[in-house]
Amino acid sequence: MRPRLASERFHEALYGTIQLLRRRPLARCIRQLEEWERLDPAAFGRLRAARLARTLGHAKAHVPLYGEGAWREALHGRTLDLRAWPVLTRETLQSRFNDLLARPPIRGTSYRTTSGSTGQPLRIATDPAGAAWAWAGDYRGLLWYGIRMGDRSVSLRPRTEGPWAEWIRNRYAVPATDLSDERLAAAVRHLQTGKPRYVWGYTSAVVELARHARLLAPNAPRPLVPYAKVFGEMLYPFQRRQIEEGLGARVISTYGCNETGTAGYECPAGSLHIFADHIEVEILRDGEPVEPGEMGEIVLTCTTNRAMPLVRYRVGDRGRLLPDPCVCGRHHPVLADIEGRVGDLLLTAAGERVHGTAALGQVLKQALREIPATAIARVLFEQRDQLTWTVLVQPGPGFDDGAARALVDGVRAKFGAECRVTVQSVAEIPREPSGKFRFYRAARD
Ligand SMILES: [Zn+2]
Repeated sequence: MRPRLASERFHEALYGTIQLLRRRPLARCIRQLEEWERLDPAAFGRLRAARLARTLGHAKAHVPLYGEGAWREALHGRTLDLRAWPVLTRETLQSRFNDLLARPPIRGTSYRTTSGSTGQPLRIATDPAGAAWAWAGDYRGLLWYGIRMGDRSVSLRPRTEGPWAEWIRNRYAVPATDLSDERLAAAVRHLQTGKPRYVWGYTSAVVELARHARLLAPNAPRPLVPYAKVFGEMLYPFQRRQIEEGLGARVISTYGCNETGTAGYECPAGSLHIFADHIEVEILRDGEPVEPGEMGEIVLTCTTNRAMPLVRYRVGDRGRLLPDPCVCGRHHPVLADIEGRVGDLLLTAAGERVHGTAALGQVLKQALREIPATAIARVLFEQRDQLTWTVLVQPGPGFDDGAARALVDGVRAKFGAECRVTVQSVAEIPREPSGKFRFYRAARD
């Protein structure tokens, strides 16, 4: 990787100062997190426990929702026992927003509305310190790869800030919701001339950039950019490969949701760590903790946002915590085998329920062995009923009848030979209401 530039140090200092003026001590939080990473396991465990206890005490004392109903019944004298707290659902977060705000209000609290993956709007309040911690957590993940705040980047996010704000952050911003060929071509040129240290964005947008890089600059030396951080959408193995091949970049996957912000990062050893100094993670089945290593629903408690403390929030994804620590030596727990929203179950012809992520990920992986990697720009598998499938394809160079047949055969091999599978070429794959892309969905009535 190229040496750090003086301009990158300048942008680091500039951005840090501006955040400080907004009462967000970002640089201090990052230094603190770096120090905590050097603690031994026992000291790190005590730190986690102390932060959790403080969060639970604050939540019980200052947040109206946690003083009534199910919480009031469950928490008699057991406030500091996380397992006594009822699980908080997305529906409660939506319907009881005001009662989840700490009283008295914390000065400088900011509010944002997200569409969420289902298109149902969700409001989130964050106090300035909570925001600083959240951003610091994100930068700490980048530090694992030697990337610092202020380093040059290319972003592919749904919303871009104004030109001034992007300049302060030393960022070349491409709007992920409007990825025209011209914009992507310009971004590929920027990778070659601007030498950013990393690109980051929605998974599907980074894949799209990688695909264009492969088409437009096939002979340029790789890496075009050393690192590619993805978020917002699931990262499937075939997409990781597309990014690696197109950009020559090391892919850094992350985990998080709108409600908590970035909750974890992939480490250089390839494990997805949940930032335990910010977020307590539990895996539950039917409301009870599973055995170590077992799959279940992911439940998060954020220990940094005091304006709207989310305690035992069920994010709607499934996964498991690995029982053994990562070889990299970091103390943060490792989350594995993440599956998207719990509702994403598909049916085989025989009526068996399977999770779409794993099954269709394999279908695509297999198909991409037989057809050129550029042939499928985007794809959406839709299950209409138990036996009927439509596969929408936004075709790229090399897409032909053979490629379509590979997709049909793949679905039949996985879901049953009697499935009727129609492949349709479309100019553009539709987005979810949230603006994100998915590559499969159950469109059953
Ligand atoms: Zn690790």
